[in-house]
Amino acid sequence: MNQRPDTSADTRTDTGTRAGATAVTVQQVARPDGFPTADLFRFVEGRLPAPSRGTALVENVYWSVDPYHREMMDGAFALNAPLEGRTIGRVIESRAPELPEGALLLHRHGWRTHAVLRPDEARLLPSHEGVPLSAHLGILGGTGLTAYVALTRIAQLQAGQDVFVSAAAGGVGTATARIGRLLGAGRLIGSAGSPAKVAHLTEHVGYDIAFDYHDGPVVDALRAAAPDGVHRTVDNVGGEHLEAAIAASRDHARIAWVGAIAQYHAAEPPPAPRNLFDLVGRSIRLEGFLVRDYPHLQQELYDFAVPHIQSGRLPLDATLVTGFDQIVNAFLGMLRGENLGKMIVGAAQPTALR
Ligand code: NAP
Repeated sequence: MNQRPDTSADTRTDTGTRAGATAVTVQQVARPDGFPTADLFRFVEGRLPAPSRGTALVENVYWSVDPYHREMMDGAFALNAPLEGRTIGRVIESRAPELPEGALLLHRHGWRTHAVLRPDEARLLPSHEGVPLSAHLGILGGTGLTAYVALTRIAQLQAGQDVFVSAAAGGVGTATARIGRLLGAGRLIGSAGSPAKVAHLTEHVGYDIAFDYHDGPVVDALRAAAPDGVHRTVDNVGGEHLEAAIAASRDHARIAWVGAIAQYHAAEPPPAPRNLFDLVGRSIRLEGFLVRDYPHLQQELYDFAVPHIQSGRLPLDATLVTGFDQIVNAFLGMLRGENLGKMIVGAAQPTALR
């Protein structure tokens, strides 16, 4: 990573009260070949932008780093330009009445310390007593909504049904277990990438049984964990995990296919599950989805989750990395599996929250 002034980036004037202040963006400078490395990014410092009429200047305080950013690195992220990502910021200067100074916003101008936003680019965050702000990037954000949609709409979980969850110790995986338990799931079975994570899942997250997918074929571990089969799967990994989920599914099971992190930096995608035809023979339903198609369920998620958070029945699973300068390390660490729960980066000293 290098950090240097970008003299070409911003020709607008500094804001009156913050003359001389700077803003930093992270940019991707080259495409990855396999697992990404820190030298594919650079930190670019420029002058603090000023809001024009109808916009507001926001200081970002929490950033989400997500597996889909890895997919975007292959082409959707423009090189040498600010990246996108879900972020929470506070308005520090406004020329838009819809975005008053002090308001907390969720928006997608992430991977940068500051952003100038139009009202249609941001959502005002509700304040819930006793709920930390960072929860809006975890259980109350896209991560929690993904788990909620997977369980309630795609898998259509019924009380008492056993659920297999892959990448169980990550953001979506922990949210799936927490929400699944509150919805009355039967046995929760999780797979994760280390013995420490396996222990954490059963001791702290509420999984009934967990296994390390490095210990042997996933299908063997899953069959041993669920000899009678599973009713529902929420698959975050794809490849061998999805094949195992199909193999271990009961008749009329449902599989919500959320992601395929096993293949995001593989040279070749893993072979499709070789047992796809079992879907027919056992009337199994496999359905993928994107959480961005479910914004209409955001309020429903708040109504469901906030009282449980406030009562202590829904603990927050997150790894919080401090300092915007750590955002690339946090992203790479998440891809390596260094996170328990949702990986979130928090500003070291956000002036907005002082
Ligand atoms: P996360 O699970 O918090 O972090 C990624 C985790 O993936 C790591 O902690 C790591 O844990 C695991 N992992 C990495 N490489 C792996 C591999 N080769 N095989 C198995 N596990 C591996 O990330 P998240 O944000 O919650 O996302 C989880 C999945 O959901 C991703 O596939 C993501 O793309 C998907 N997703 C989809 C939607 C949607 O709208 N469909 C929305 C959000 C997320 P281990 O230590 O256990 O390996």
